[in-house]
Amino acid sequence: MHDEINEIIQDYDMNKITIGTIGSHSALNIFKGAKEEGFRTICLCKEEDQITYQRFPVADEIIILDDFKELLNREVQEKLRRLNTILVPHGSFIAYLDLDEVINDLQVPMFGNRHLLRFESNREKQKIWLQKAGLKQPRTFTAPHDINGLTIAKFPGAKGGKGYFLINTPEAFQTKAKDMIEKGFMKKEDMDQIYLQEYIFGVTIYPSYFNSRLNNEVELLCVDRRYESSIDSLGRISAKEQLNMNNLTPTYTVVGNIPITIRESLLSEYIRMGDNVTKISEEIAPPGIIGPFCLETIVTDVPEIFTFEISARIVAGTNVGIGISPYAYVKHGEEMYMGKRIAKELKVAIAKKKLNMIVT
Ligand code: AMP
Ligand code: AMP
Repeated sequence: MHDEINEIIQDYDMNKITIGTIGSHSALNIFKGAKEEGFRTICLCKEEDQITYQRFPVADEIIILDDFKELLNREVQEKLRRLNTILVPHGSFIAYLDLDEVINDLQVPMFGNRHLLRFESNREKQKIWLQKAGLKQPRTFTAPHDINGLTIAKFPGAKGGKGYFLINTPEAFQTKAKDMIEKGFMKKEDMDQIYLQEYIFGVTIYPSYFNSRLNNEVELLCVDRRYESSIDSLGRISAKEQLNMNNLTPTYTVVGNIPITIRESLLSEYIRMGDNVTKISEEIAPPGIIGPFCLETIVTDVPEIFTFEISARIVAGTNVGIGISPYAYVKHGEEMYMGKRIAKELKVAIAKKKLNMIVT
């Protein structure tokens, strides 16, 4: 595939590159950055979401799809290539497309290392990657009867934590799982693929990095936390009222993100973590991470940093930095954010004729 993508790039008109993505998740972030760096933009979205990309006019062209899977259609791909498009993948590529098809059949250059997207749908692969990088992770339990202490139960797929639940014992697991199936949060078949992880009591911190292959440096650009329903509403009512609510099962459906700056003495560890994860990525999926990635961490009161997930692409948490994010500003001395950083890297690569280093 790499050779095919290289051939496609060779035919591209470098003065007329278009940045494209699916209309949702972090599309405004990506398009705004692309426009600020002088690129044309193309948005592939659903009819009902078109209003977003009309009211925030950062997409030069909008293609309406009935289903995001139509991105894989031959005619759509041909059109994208005709417009010299480089796609920027985000969370919706993972959530709504078949990853194998994206990796093997999407013959449109993508910014980033498409092979690393596969790690996102495979918790075991992620675990090994993070382990090799020396990052501390929550313990995992192989089967429900091993549950020992507060545990979070997760289902396959990146569905924004909808249906995650907490348990303390193997018995509680059986009761809660039944409840979740009845409520329609999970299917019976999901039970076999459930991932049981030690619940870390602390605050969630999501640092977003950018690995610049052109500068050979990992930049920490933005930090956020998620705003999740219903877990983030629990503190708004008293424990007494919570006890009166039948079947109260907190879930983790992401609704938005909140910007964060972190205690400065924690920064050095976060910076080293980003470097280590990048170094290992070069071994497990050459040439390793290209551009944005994010670690999902929890910090305890020790303070100790636990990492429970990694995304090797732009995350929607970087939307909190659109226009300006503090760390990006300190690093670049100008208004900078993930979408713009991606576009900037593409612009420099085009000028230096090194585009093949950052697209796959
Ligand atoms: P959506 O396009 O909103 O359906 O989201 C696609 C995927 O990205 C889903 O897995 C969501 O859970 C995730 N996602 C969407 N928006 C955010 C956000 N603001 N923060 C974190 N994750 C998100
Ligand atoms: P995820 O979909 O894996 O990103 O997780 C959704 C949410 O679940 C996170 O934003 C956290 O609030 C919470 N979470 C996930 N794993 C853990 C864990 N091991 N300990 C505590 N909270 C967690």
